[in-house]
Amino acid sequence: MPSTIRTTRLPGGDDVPVLGQGTWGMGEKPIRRADEVAALRLGLDLGMSLIDTAEMYGDGGAEEVVGEAVSGRRDEVFIVSKVLPTHASRLGVVTACDHSLRRLQTDRIDLYLLHWRLGTPLAETVAGFEALQAAGKIRHWGVSNFDTADMVELAGISDGRNVQTDQVLYNLLRRGVEYDLLPWCRERALPVMAYSPVEQGVLAGDGRLTKIAERYGVSRSRIALAWVLRQDGVIAIPKASRPDHVRDNSAAHDLRLIPADMQELDRHFRPPTSKQPLEMI
Ligand code: NAP
Repeated sequence: MPSTIRTTRLPGGDDVPVLGQGTWGMGEKPIRRADEVAALRLGLDLGMSLIDTAEMYGDGGAEEVVGEAVSGRRDEVFIVSKVLPTHASRLGVVTACDHSLRRLQTDRIDLYLLHWRLGTPLAETVAGFEALQAAGKIRHWGVSNFDTADMVELAGISDGRNVQTDQVLYNLLRRGVEYDLLPWCRERALPVMAYSPVEQGVLAGDGRLTKIAERYGVSRSRIALAWVLRQDGVIAIPKASRPDHVRDNSAAHDLRLIPADMQELDRHFRPPTSKQPLEMI
């Protein structure tokens, strides 16, 4: 039975779990495919029913893994995928989306993001997203790797306020967004999606987390993930292909850090005191 994971509301009205699953690195090696599908399905069983993918991951291979994982249970899952900035023209997003839908073996993507910003005028990409939404191929759209100035610009163009999220790098080692981007989004009730929440596994080996982890008798990774999940309006999408990692991540949802833990973590991982350019992986 799926456990209950807290949800957050997107501006469009959808309630999505604050803990989902990433897929970067999946779909690259056929020999690993069955394990990857199994990991995602285990995550769904544990209630992590938001799956993040992208046309870029494994050159479409990750979307195929997701398609297999959600087969027979599509309606339980909130699928997020991303279009490459090189496909971000008005017509380019439509073609890219059709390819993603085919790989995902579905008739709609729940949330379709611009992976990062390059040269295409935002108005063109937004027009493409709006057309896809009108056609029922995507239910919502959003952006990724947008810094505050990009969000301000987006909010100023026609239909730009239909954006549902900004997916950004956010974890204990990457706290710059706390200075301005997170508050900007929070003021507009716009959830942020935190990618690489355990810094691609690095935080699982970070000695500065050992004391707190031992106190709770849990992994360092679980502490790092619980820290990302400590606040409203933040959705974390850890990627795990090992079942023990999937279970560990799921358990992070139920770990409540106390103010003394936060203070200890603030001493080791300093919050920003000035504007920092948005970091990307
Ligand atoms: P991550 O989720 O921070 O870390 C994934 C790595 O950590 C994997 O090697 C995984 O190992 C390991 N891991 C996961 N849970 C663990 C645990 N409980 N204990 C120990 N190790 C653990 O990094 P990420 O994959 O970069 O980010 C997550 C997702 O965000 C991506 O998969 C992708 O969907 C999205 N993303 C988006 C962007 C963007 O530009 N929008 C950029 C990066 C990532 P195993 O796989 O072996 O289990």
